[in-house]
Amino acid sequence: MRIVLLGPPGAGKGSVAALIKDRYALLHISTGDILREEIRKESPLAKEIKSYIERGALVPDEVITKMVDQKLTKDLGVTEGFMLDGYPRNDSQAKELDAILKKIDSSLDFVLNMEASLPLILSRISGRRICKKCGAVYHMTNKPPKAAGVCDACSGPLYQRSDDNEETIKNRMSVYNSSTAPILEYYRKQGKLVTFDGDKETNVLFEEFVKFLNENKRFNKNQNASRN
Ligand code: ADP
Repeated sequence: MRIVLLGPPGAGKGSVAALIKDRYALLHISTGDILREEIRKESPLAKEIKSYIERGALVPDEVITKMVDQKLTKDLGVTEGFMLDGYPRNDSQAKELDAILKKIDSSLDFVLNMEASLPLILSRISGRRICKKCGAVYHMTNKPPKAAGVCDACSGPLYQRSDDNEETIKNRMSVYNSSTAPILEYYRKQGKLVTFDGDKETNVLFEEFVKFLNENKRFNKNQNASRN
């Protein structure tokens, strides 16, 4: 199975991705997580990356594409497929992705697109808290941890992402509308786009994904499937 998760910030890509990853043996590539890890490790690119993320702007294509290329080229093969989450985010990344996949003799099966309404997006993002240790995602009201500020799974401390503030969210939404939303058409034309209602609760949405994926087993390992 080779899929891309698309949708505006707060549509639930990360939450659904965690469940999909548990259900299927997939290489999960979240560009946001990779970038935050670069910052945490204080890598040579950390400062530059941080300045983009904190403004809600896109990190330059060449930086991000190189990271995705490395992951797909090196890490693929040990799993049944991959799930890209947060990439591609603009037209040039979509084309770069096609080039990378061609290079490794692969292709996309489906682009699973989540649409969500703005008030819900804003409340999800502003209430989001993440475990510093294991990355588990909580929400202050929808999915609070048992003990305040502490991860249920690993007891790690919870934090709020520095770009989950009102000002940056506005920029992220506007970048989504101007740069990311147009690529939906790119995938629609290829017959790969499938849209889901991201307003639904994570588990309900996940079950819809599973149903769709099970009914559309065109992700056979040896088959370069596409929707027509
Ligand atoms: P969200 O989908 O909620 O915006 P992500 O974790 O996917 O969260 O992304 C956080 C930030 O990381 C983005 O606002 C952007 O600055 C950067 N980023 C993530 N993926 C990409 C990408 N494919 N291209 C450029 N920048 C990216």
